[in-house]
Amino acid sequence: MAHLVWFRNDLRVADNPALTAACQSGQRVIACFLPTPAQWQAHDWSAARLQFVAEHVAALGDELAALGVPLEIAESDTFADSLALLLKLCEFHQVSHLHFNEEYGINERRRDQHCKQLADQQGIKVSKYRDQTIAPVGSVLTQQHQPYTVFTPFSRRWRALLEEQPTPPWPVPKAVDKPCQPAERWIPELPANTPPSLVATGEAAAHLQLNRFLEEHGADYKKQRDIPALPGTSCLSPYLANGVLSGRQCLYAAQQALGQQSAAEGIQCWINELCWRDFYIHILYHFPRVSMHRAFKEETDGLQWNPAGSHFEAWKHGHTGIPLVDAAMRQLNQTGWMHNRLRMVTAMFLTKNLFIDWRLGEAYFMSRLVDGFLASNNGGWQWSASTGTDAAPYFRVFNPVSQSEKFDPEGTFIRQYVPELAKLDNKRIHQPWTAGVIPGSYPRPIVDLKTSREEAIEKFKLLKG
Ligand SMILES: Cc1cc2nc3c(=O)[nH]c(=O)nc-3n(C[C@H](O)[C@H](O)[C@H](O)COP(=O)(O)OP(=O)(O)OC[C@H]3O[C@@H](n4cnc5c(N)ncnc54)[C@H](O)[C@@H]3O)c2cc1C
Repeated sequence: MAHLVWFRNDLRVADNPALTAACQSGQRVIACFLPTPAQWQAHDWSAARLQFVAEHVAALGDELAALGVPLEIAESDTFADSLALLLKLCEFHQVSHLHFNEEYGINERRRDQHCKQLADQQGIKVSKYRDQTIAPVGSVLTQQHQPYTVFTPFSRRWRALLEEQPTPPWPVPKAVDKPCQPAERWIPELPANTPPSLVATGEAAAHLQLNRFLEEHGADYKKQRDIPALPGTSCLSPYLANGVLSGRQCLYAAQQALGQQSAAEGIQCWINELCWRDFYIHILYHFPRVSMHRAFKEETDGLQWNPAGSHFEAWKHGHTGIPLVDAAMRQLNQTGWMHNRLRMVTAMFLTKNLFIDWRLGEAYFMSRLVDGFLASNNGGWQWSASTGTDAAPYFRVFNPVSQSEKFDPEGTFIRQYVPELAKLDNKRIHQPWTAGVIPGSYPRPIVDLKTSREEAIEKFKLLKG
């Protein structure tokens, strides 16, 4: 009899509750990864993410082989097909106990419920683990045992809970057998223009990046995190989104770094971002409608968005005539990643100035991001569109020119991604239309920022009646 660990969104051997439990069973342990590219395509997964996952599954296979755990990889189109493959594996290896860490998208939840029913029919025990968040989903509740829908009180309870019940990460489990053959590589079909990998491959590389970030940038995080031209943020999101690093490991490393007084303010601010990640996963868990293309604030589903058309195309390709928005969209298209401040600026521009449905922006981001992560992407889009939990009030609309002057004052970031504007001075680069002749083929703004903002506010007001 064997224990099977089904890896999905948790591509690591350290701090992995499902793997740890299986390895502690004293029985033979095998592992599987069941890619479903067609299903992932339906979920708008990007080529950059597919590439990242493929590279990390290979690295995971090597780590598992060293622990004496063989990794089986079997590709199919859909979640339903992957369950059929899973059952075949169970039969072939005489599996008595299946372990996996939970996922919270609606399709993943339905797949896992179905999996449990099928396993029950075969007499296979199933153990599920709450791994994706630092404070387990369902544990951060109000005094009335309700989920929080606003970030600040959630974060207070989250911090108190973690102080009461610290969650140190699990170490890598002890080897269960002598080393085995590494798994065969899974090589997905990728388009030729897939961006090169943004970060180094493997758990060790992820930890190196985590520790280096905390040491070199942790202290200045609060001051530098909004400046897109600086390497002021950790860029750990691809690892976190795909489970190569866990939130617990990040929190633990941050707490160790807190020992140095001078770094405390910056690192506390970074821990707050880890809390945002937990918050959005908790929202996805408690309010599954947000993963069914529905607004958290249900009344905002009545908004009549503008047709997407040429404005949406201009936004996607970085040709809106608003330099910071265009630089950000080109960063996304070229690298598969975008700085957090710019995700907010571009999302607000799409939903407030162009008044285009946030769902289209959400899907486009997902189709490009290497760190595409349903809970955070949906949360960020609904925040920007004022349709979400902790949403920006509908009348507070970022002005992308002021944002540009404030967070990219010398136009360093704009110059990098919009080279047509590189020769403009530090004042004009934020609004080249004031320069008289706009350089090269750079467009005039596709929308008037002032009137479009006022129109959006009016539409939200009408909704309120
Ligand atoms: C419209 C929009 C879409 C977004 N889409 C995604 C997405 O698909 N995947 C994703 O991981 N993040 C998303 N975010 C959140 C945030 O922009 C990224 O997590 C962050 O830019 C990643 O860079 P970093 O690793 O350097 O972050 P750091 O600043 O170093 O933060 C550390 C970690 O905290 C988490 N985090 C930071 N900010 C947030 C936040 N606002 N919400 C939730 N978690 C956060 C991330 O896991 C991040 O890696 C989105 C934000 C917005 C406004």
